[in-house]
Amino acid sequence: MPFLKPRLPQMLAALRRFVTAESPSLEKAAADRCCGVIAEEWNRHGARAERIAQKHRGDLLRIIHAPGKSRTSGQLLVLGHYDTVYSTGTLAGMPFRVRGGKAYGPGTFDMKAGIVQALFALQALQRVEIPLRKRIVFLWTSDEEIGSESSRKFFEAEARRSDAVFVLEPSFGPRGLLKTARKGVGEAELIVHGRASHAGLAPQEGINAIHELARQLARIEKWNDLRGGVTINAGIIEGGKRTNVIPELARVVLDLRALRVPDMRRLERRLHALRPLQRGARLEITGGFDRPPLERKMSTALFARANSLAKQMNLSLGECTVGGGSDGNFTAALSIPTLDGLGAVGDGAHSSHEHVFIDTMPERAALLAALLLGS
Ligand SMILES: [Zn+2]
Repeated sequence: MPFLKPRLPQMLAALRRFVTAESPSLEKAAADRCCGVIAEEWNRHGARAERIAQKHRGDLLRIIHAPGKSRTSGQLLVLGHYDTVYSTGTLAGMPFRVRGGKAYGPGTFDMKAGIVQALFALQALQRVEIPLRKRIVFLWTSDEEIGSESSRKFFEAEARRSDAVFVLEPSFGPRGLLKTARKGVGEAELIVHGRASHAGLAPQEGINAIHELARQLARIEKWNDLRGGVTINAGIIEGGKRTNVIPELARVVLDLRALRVPDMRRLERRLHALRPLQRGARLEITGGFDRPPLERKMSTALFARANSLAKQMNLSLGECTVGGGSDGNFTAALSIPTLDGLGAVGDGAHSSHEHVFIDTMPERAALLAALLLGS
């Protein structure tokens, strides 16, 4: 796509507009303003952006590209989010700037540059003469960084109508690896109820919730299987009030991850099957997986296609497995082939040095265009 390389200045101008409209997931007014800026940019390029109103989160943005002349059957979904983890005002200390081949700023890499690449991929598609076989739906959401509670039903509905989902989350590492597998992610809480008593006067009457919790944790820790992609991390622990009181309450919050659906299910089963080891203690277990794993088999065919297209374009492409989830986890769980990490190449997501490598923006846009054309 020779059309895209000279478009880098326009791509950066669009990126600047998107990034300088701050869009924290939890601030609806600000997110809505950013949604408006993105809509305007797409409309300016001849698309028809349609806002889907949300009550508590930023509005969603849908752009349908279905050229009237060609007969399309089927649909492709291009999915991403415009919300960021940065609260408004972050820009003051972390301004948008381009320096040394990198564009810095909050949300550049995760994932506003991805939205820019998609916009220019669409422009490239509008210019080619080859008719599209499928209609393309671009959907930009506003709450991915906080679990996608509000947007989930909308993108799942679009995904169900689609033959493939392309997720514009950042790629991984300096080589821009695509994410062909993502762990499922969850959180669980274990509360131990014991019985309080004086540690000196009546130790025999107490049931120590902390001791019970410690023993349970020693057991839970053994479920870790790094090689198999299963991890359980006790991230928060609380319990007890004074040293001379046998504590009646202790709790732990666990981070759960698994690479495969059966492992996810097994982990949830095991957690809920925990029984107290001390007589009289009681366990309360809540939570589980929020995002199921994106299993590699859901990406295999799409990655092979992307890889061969990349070769034709003289780009090298690799793949990787990552521990964090995205909305691609949800679409893959619906059995829709999903390819994730098709967005920007860069580094520093969710940190003060977040940036993208600007030279890669036109080529990644071209790769997306080729994928949409050929799928
Ligand atoms: Zn993201």
